[in-house]
Amino acid sequence: MREKKIALKGLLFSEMQHFVKDIGEPKFRAQQLMDWIYKKNAVDFEEMTNLSKTLREKLNKCATINDLQNKNCSVSKIDGTMKFLFALEDHHTIESVIMFHPDRVSAKRVTACISTQVGCAMGCSFCATGKSGLVRNLTSSEIVNQVATLNHVLAASNEGPINNVVIMGMGEPLANYESTLKAIHIFNMKEGFQVGARHITLSTCGLVPQILRLAKEELQIVLAISLHAPNDTLRNQLIPINRKYPLAQLIDACQQYIHDTGRRITFEYSLMSGVNDTSHDAKELAALLKGLLCHVNLIPINPVEDTNYKRATEVHIAKFKEILEEKGIPVSRREEKGADIEAACGQLRRRQMT
Ligand code: SF4
Repeated sequence: MREKKIALKGLLFSEMQHFVKDIGEPKFRAQQLMDWIYKKNAVDFEEMTNLSKTLREKLNKCATINDLQNKNCSVSKIDGTMKFLFALEDHHTIESVIMFHPDRVSAKRVTACISTQVGCAMGCSFCATGKSGLVRNLTSSEIVNQVATLNHVLAASNEGPINNVVIMGMGEPLANYESTLKAIHIFNMKEGFQVGARHITLSTCGLVPQILRLAKEELQIVLAISLHAPNDTLRNQLIPINRKYPLAQLIDACQQYIHDTGRRITFEYSLMSGVNDTSHDAKELAALLKGLLCHVNLIPINPVEDTNYKRATEVHIAKFKEILEEKGIPVSRREEKGADIEAACGQLRRRQMT
């Protein structure tokens, strides 16, 4: 008898094959389990009607497919963005978000923004998650299960499935490297959610050794760097990890990543009034990124409780964008989602909305 139940949602197909062999079942059961978990959104073994009752009972004893409990869901009145508060088995909580992009006429884009840690150790000064510190890393199952549970919710209203995943929720994904990477493989694999690698974005505040490691993984995912400052003095204040990995090292790592993967890097730049939104900042940013295969996402910051940061004015946002364009840096302004339910960038924290 196993001491701890195996979380099936965190298994790669090869591991699922080992699992079914381990419990004395024929090989084809692995594919059946993958189908139920990832294609049919099963949350209970009892739903698996093409498995015998005896097998379902056996699975119930040694495995689990549901380690998240949906505690709360808030829906934005502005754009329909949905924010979920999930409880983990040890009662810690995390948040995940679903965003809809109905403007895309060709194929409706449904994005999940998911978490990789309970809290975060990075302590970025503008971020609600960073305020609570790191509690623990999520397992690959807990990361994967966020998308599975969101798909389950969407299916109930004939929506979805999720076809875009952004790993930008609570936590620094590269500080939970193995579990995050495994989850990415499960999102992408044909027996899993089949989300195209180019529709998976991993966002980091700039852990240089892990960026260099990721470069060697031969993934076609989008790497996003939370940059937010054009020089070390300001970045040290906003993102403390910059003291360990300053901009020169970070940009070198980005260059290496581009060289190894052939992929363009996205730089996230949250515009904060009077902090990093001047014309001088824009010129400095353009100089920093000159010659790099990249794209800049400008994000007018959403207010975060307990911080003094304010959103940049429309005039400053427009000017900043114009300067980057003039300097030949590809740039866009990121559409904001779910600001009224605190689901936007930097607003996630482990609490229930009232
Ligand atoms: S911005 Fe990201 S890395 Fe920084 S504290 Fe928040 S969750 Fe952590």
